[in-house]
Amino acid sequence: MNYRIENLIDKEAVEKRIKELAREIEKDYAGEEVYCVGLLKGSVIFLSDLVKEINIPVIIDFMSVSSYGSETVSSGDVKILKDTDLDLRGKHVLIVEDIIDTGLTLEYVIKYFKEGKGVKSLRTCTLLNKPERRKVDVKVDYIGFDVPDKFVIGYGLDYDQKYRNLPYIAVVIPE
Ligand code: 5GP
Repeated sequence: MNYRIENLIDKEAVEKRIKELAREIEKDYAGEEVYCVGLLKGSVIFLSDLVKEINIPVIIDFMSVSSYGSETVSSGDVKILKDTDLDLRGKHVLIVEDIIDTGLTLEYVIKYFKEGKGVKSLRTCTLLNKPERRKVDVKVDYIGFDVPDKFVIGYGLDYDQKYRNLPYIAVVIPE
């Protein structure tokens, strides 16, 4: 496919918003420590920048879930490829995502945490949110930016495994 890339959210705006999210998180978890669980691989860049800005104790862990490629695939098809390493029982857990699209992945992960991990509290944080495409009513506590229903890349998000290292958010436009 021939395509071009168009900037959507510049580096400075992303950095500014991440600082704002960090302030909110610090305030909400004041006096506590928070276990930030990033969903691989998309959340890696966002998570690293976010935790650097959070001035309360932060512990990092990762999880990898399979993402389905088509709208027709049901939530039952979400699979855990790598579980968290740490014991999260009795901990405040913040799930960190790159983008919430249909919400099916996050819905699955939330259910998995609530049913099996015995966490003290569970919140969710995403850099990007595509509200137009939502299929399930999933609670997202911290949202960086709402984006239009377009394929976005950069800041951890890939197109065919590339562009994760772009320091800004862009849109892939087929030509
Ligand atoms: P959901 O389960 O909410 O539909 O999908 C979430 C996952 O789909 C994200 O973690 C991401 O991997 C992928 N995804 C959804 N929309 C986009 C997009 O616009 N760009 C990229 N690169 N990935 C996306």
